[in-house]
Amino acid sequence: MTSKKISVGVVPLGDIPEFDLQVIVDHIIGCFKLVAQILPRFEPPGNALDERRLQYNAGIIIETMEAMQFSNYDKVIGVLDKDLFIPIFTHVFGEARQGGKCGLVSLYRLAKNPDGSIPPESSINERAAKVALHELGHLLDLLHCERKKCLMHFSGGIDEVDEMSLDLCEYCTVYLQDKLR
Ligand SMILES: [Zn+2]
Ligand SMILES: [Zn+2]
Repeated sequence: MTSKKISVGVVPLGDIPEFDLQVIVDHIIGCFKLVAQILPRFEPPGNALDERRLQYNAGIIIETMEAMQFSNYDKVIGVLDKDLFIPIFTHVFGEARQGGKCGLVSLYRLAKNPDGSIPPESSINERAAKVALHELGHLLDLLHCERKKCLMHFSGGIDEVDEMSLDLCEYCTVYLQDKLR
């Protein structure tokens, strides 16, 4: 059994610290055993900003990314520090279309604890890695999982992001291996 070497680009949308991007790249390589690297930055598209909500529409950013040529990459994860929403939710930590090419992670809400306190840098990075891997899971056609510890569990709040692990449950692991075959 040999896995296709799926390559993932991690692209900063705006001024994102190199270290934050590298942590995500390292987790994609370490946890999913894929090829990953940091791509040149670009600015989040201005038309994605919703003037009323003062948040960025994740769907518009993903459409913009999908229209760009990332021909050397099978999947692309955009990382930004803007607050993201999709119309049915007040906010999202990340977004990806099932089986699509491009997904997003927002660091904006990961930098605060549910009680309003500021977490250490290391837990912000761990949260970002979880959200990035979760969205990449969707790009690789993984669905949401009911197991709370599983990386593919849906997270509506930060406490749920903290509760889930960086690992897929046994079922999702088999499913992913199947997809990568
Ligand atoms: Zn999800
Ligand atoms: Zn699972």
